[in-house]
Amino acid sequence: MLPFKLVYHPRYDLNLGTHVFPSEKFRLLYELLLAEGIAESRDVLQPELAGDEDLLRVHTSEWVGKLKNGTLTPSEIMKLEVPYSPELAEAVWLAAGGSILAGQMALRDGFASNLGGGFHHAYANHGEGFCAIHDVAVAIKRLQHDGAIKKAIIVDTDVHHGNGTAHIFRDDDSVFTLSIHQLNNYPAYKPPSNLDLDLNDGVEDEEYLGALLPGLEKSLDTFCPDVLFYVGGADPYCEDQLGGLRLSKSGLKARDKGVFQLARARKIPVATTLAGGYARRLPDTIRIHANTIVAGQEVIRECAAHAS
Ligand SMILES: [Zn+2]
Repeated sequence: MLPFKLVYHPRYDLNLGTHVFPSEKFRLLYELLLAEGIAESRDVLQPELAGDEDLLRVHTSEWVGKLKNGTLTPSEIMKLEVPYSPELAEAVWLAAGGSILAGQMALRDGFASNLGGGFHHAYANHGEGFCAIHDVAVAIKRLQHDGAIKKAIIVDTDVHHGNGTAHIFRDDDSVFTLSIHQLNNYPAYKPPSNLDLDLNDGVEDEEYLGALLPGLEKSLDTFCPDVLFYVGGADPYCEDQLGGLRLSKSGLKARDKGVFQLARARKIPVATTLAGGYARRLPDTIRIHANTIVAGQEVIRECAAHAS
């Protein structure tokens, strides 16, 4: 049994069929965690659809309406880079509900993971790069609305810059945005995060961790957030089709553990989401996402051992 909750819904699948975004990965990750005994079914909570009022704290009513009614223009669908379907809309509403629930469980238990979400390219008024609704922004605004938190940090380790995140929170001092990404990669326009760690092509484990962990440590100590949302991209992996960094699977797990250890040492609750992952072999992407859960488990057990 895990020392924290996982959040998952069978309809997280974005219904993309053959696409570089393997939308069945949510189900495959869930199945792997249970099959290997990393998690048990009682560790898993099923989210509800986020409410429209939750989405509207982040997104324009025009964009939410277009997603609900399937009235996206051809150029909006081109920017989104995934075909629209009612299943896609339901999946992103569920992903947002999942990140809200993961945030709530993180505040209760210290740690929680949404086995979906991390749609960091979504802007307030349009979608981009496979991301229609910014689930993490929706979750943070909901937790703030409920009075559960004041300040949040988003730590985005997807290989691609968190452009939607940076833009949504550009004038919001209550949310600190940190993105570590490959500079020469999508998106072409990168609105500034509070901390952008721009990496050159081909960066490997040691250099990556040497940039991320000191940058995060300083951010946590100056900003003192009430919660950390971790957008855990699998795409800095050396065999990723859409990434140009060269991290190993063990380097990616060390990344996850390093982030969680810094947060736990400061008693900051952590809510994790997935993000991109386009490894040549799909099982590698699934394994990297699963390792984020294992990393969370290891860090919590280590902390408990030190405390006792
Ligand atoms: Zn990505």
